[in-house]
Formats: sequence, C-alpha cells, structure tokens
Amino acid sequence: MKYVSTRGMQDLGSFSDVLLSGLAPDGGLAMPESIPTFTPAQIGAWRGLSYADLAFEVMRPFISDIPEDDLRRLLRATYTEEAFHSEAITPLTPLGDAGPDGGGLFLLELSNGPSLAFKDMAMQFLGQVFEYVLERRDEHLNILGATSGDTGSAAEYAMLGKARVNVFMLSPHGRMSAFQQAQMFSLHDDNIFNIALEGVFDDCQDLVKAVNADAEFKARYDIGAVNSINWARVLAQAVYYFRAYLTLNLPDGQEADFSVPSGNFGNVFAGYLARSMGLPVGQLIVATNENDVLNDFFTGGVYHVRPAEQVAMTSSPSMDIGKASNFERYLYLITGSDAPQTHGWWQDVGEGRPVDLRGTPHWDAVQASGLKSGRSTHTDRLNTIRRVDREHGRLIDPHTADGVLIGERYQRPGVPMICLETALPAKFEETVQEAVGRLPERPARFEGIEGAPKRFEVLPNDVQTLKDFITAKLAGKLATI
Ligand SMILES: *Cc1c(COP(=O)(O)O)cnc(C)c1O
Repeated sequence: MKYVSTRGMQDLGSFSDVLLSGLAPDGGLAMPESIPTFTPAQIGAWRGLSYADLAFEVMRPFISDIPEDDLRRLLRATYTEEAFHSEAITPLTPLGDAGPDGGGLFLLELSNGPSLAFKDMAMQFLGQVFEYVLERRDEHLNILGATSGDTGSAAEYAMLGKARVNVFMLSPHGRMSAFQQAQMFSLHDDNIFNIALEGVFDDCQDLVKAVNADAEFKARYDIGAVNSINWARVLAQAVYYFRAYLTLNLPDGQEADFSVPSGNFGNVFAGYLARSMGLPVGQLIVATNENDVLNDFFTGGVYHVRPAEQVAMTSSPSMDIGKASNFERYLYLITGSDAPQTHGWWQDVGEGRPVDLRGTPHWDAVQASGLKSGRSTHTDRLNTIRRVDREHGRLIDPHTADGVLIGERYQRPGVPMICLETALPAKFEETVQEAVGRLPERPARFEGIEGAPKRFEVLPNDVQTLKDFITAKLAGKLATI
C-alpha cells in the first residue's frame, strides 16, 4: 500500500515512512492511495478473534512493508490484558436495558489502559511499532510534543523504556490538573523529559512548531512527533469500531450507530474509515462541547476555524479546539479523493476564510456519509453525569458525558447506539465531584499518586532555551552509554 497526500503529492512512501514523518511536504496529511473494503460476511467471520488478531485483519491491508508475522507479533505485544486491565481490551457495557427491538445504549470502554484515556489505544501500538521500525532502520527518534494533558501521558507511558526513542513533552506550567501532572511527572525513566513551560498550551504548541521550522536542527536531532494527525494512530483507532460491532453479535450487515466525543476529529475519523472499509455503521455522531466548530459545520455546511484566543476553556478540556486537524482527511474522502479541491479549501482555511459547502454536491456527500453532530454545555455535562450515575449506576467522565448526551438524542429504535468512553472519571475528578458530590474511584495503581516524587524542569517560553535543553540532554545521554 502506497501513501499519498490529501493535497496532491503522490509518493509519500510506505506505512513505515508515513509513521515517522509528520505533515506531507506539501502541507497535507498522509492517506492510503485506496481504501480496502470488506463484505459483511468477511467482517462477520472475524467474530471470536482476540483483539490483537482482529487488529491484524483490519490493519494488514494498509501495512505492506512489515512482514505479517512481525505485525501480528507487534499487535499481540500491544493489546494485552496487562496493559489494558481487561481480557476484552475494550469491553462493551450496556447502559440500561437493551430494548426488546435489539436497540439500546452501550458504553465502549476505551480508557482502561495506562493513562486512563482512549489515546492509549493507538499510542501503545505506536510505542511498539516505532521501536520495531527504528531498529530495522538503525535510527533514533526524539519525540517533541505539546500537551494539555491526555496526549502527553499516553505518549510517555507508550515510550517508557524504549531504547531508540526519547520524549520531550512540553506542558503549560501549573495548568494541568493535579492528577494529570502527577501522571506525567512521576515517570522517571531516562528517556522521558517533562518540560513545564512558563506559558499556556498555545505557547507550548508554538515552541514545538518553531523547533520543527528549523530544518537543520530537526534533521540533526531526529525530531519527530506523535500528534493526532499521525496515520498510524488513526488506523489503530479504527479497530475498536470493528471490535464493538462484532461484540454486539448482530446479524451480518445490520447497522449500529456510534457517538464520539470529538476535538481534533481523529477518533471519529477512524470510525468513518471503518465505515468506508465496509463496517455497517449507520450514524456517526460528532459530539462537541462549547467549542462547536464541527457542530457548526455538520448542522450548517460551513467550516470556519477559530483562532486560539477564541477557544473556550471548558470542563471537557481535551475537546477544546478551534480547528480539527484530521478534518482534512474526511473532506478529502468526501470529494472522492480530489486533492486539488482539498488543497484549495485548506488554502482558505489557512488564511482564515470559511469553507462553505452549502448547495454543492459535496454537501450531499457529507449528508450521505452518516456523520451528524450536536453540542453540549457544562450544565449538560453535569446533568448527564448525574443522570447516568443515578439511572445506570455508572460514573462517566465529562467528555464521555458529551457523547452520551448527544448519542441519546440520535438514538433509533432497533439500532444499538455505542457511546465511546474516552477517559475514566478519575482523570477529571473535579467535574465529576461537582456533578455527583463524591469522588470517582481511582484504579489502585494511581492511589496517592499526587504524593509521588515528581521529575520535571521549568523552562521559560523561549525557543533557544528549549533547543539548548534538548541538545544538552541528548549529549548527556550519549555520554552515559
Ligand atoms: C483527545 C480526547 C478527545 C478528542 O478526540 P479527538 O480524536 O481529538 O477528536 C476526547 N476525549 C478525551 C478524553 C480525549 O483525551
């Protein structure tokens, strides 16, 4: 399978090439040159496979440059009960009674991995496959990232102890929750460098961009990324849509709907990829919070990104985005892989102009694609957390609450609605406590984590200081080998 750019560049290489590179040289995102499809009967035959072996079937057609035995081994090493604290890896739990007509509301548990958020599902695979590809190529990778919480901890847990990978993770000093800080800063491995930046999240992101803009520094120090546009993350996320569908054990070809708390559009795009591969997905619900750029698009036909200063801080912070980086992949597929069209739109996006699909055939294609949307507010989240706790005896986190609320709104008789649980409530306990008046349970391994010794360094908001820091740490590591 060859990869191409959403903006027209033809040969981006193989899976391993796009795994290690960020944006395509033309500024677009990597896409497979075609999307393999499966019949309902072929998909049905995957019932009963382990999570890892199902992942192998779903991902194999996209990965032609890793021998099948190696890929299977990597996936089996990734999706273990030890890492995900459940044999099913992604258990599917009913919320209330499955209606007599076969419908009902379900929670797809994606957050039982090391960092307690769904980002582990893909990041754990990235850790394995990076190590494998770097070993084969005899290369090293220094991941430089910015996080407001969930991505950073998922990346660090995934890269722990990996000999060929170092992680330099910037976070806004003093602005993460106590739990998130403790999660990241209590990791003391030699290849993990936590940098608390004197600034806000956008400053962290700007510094990462500034370092990446220095091509010489980037090449010399093997700087790479694990951000949400990474194709391997999207692909690994498609697997749990198949898994959830097969767990329901519906007759071959019968539809299920999904509701997805959304920010950068990576998770829900993975669902659209699964649908494009032939998985019988009816509706894919894009649930947003007050930062509702995506809801504006799916309800009104106009995509208009918002500058960072117009992005509100909400109680579902991992969805606080003003532009959805993976959205370009979706519009590219909507046009039938029309790269010149996509390129033109993103030129507009880049210059702050809206993309208006109203009255065009593209808008018809959007409406035929199964994607729908809704938005919710802080009060909605509190009410939903409280109601789901009272009615179903289940505590959910504020992001998941966004998804459950909007998912219920689109529920259809006789069709299961699967709501994706994107974090455990323990990760956002302040809001959960506000909703139900008590703290959520914490997995035992995180008891008292705020008291664990922390390792991080505070840096000023300055590119040169950051570069010097990276250079010095890498020199220090070489000296100790
Ligand atoms: C990252 C994240 C999201 C948003 O997912 P996208 O793939 O960016 O749309 C939602 N909820 C939680 C808890 C997250 O960490």
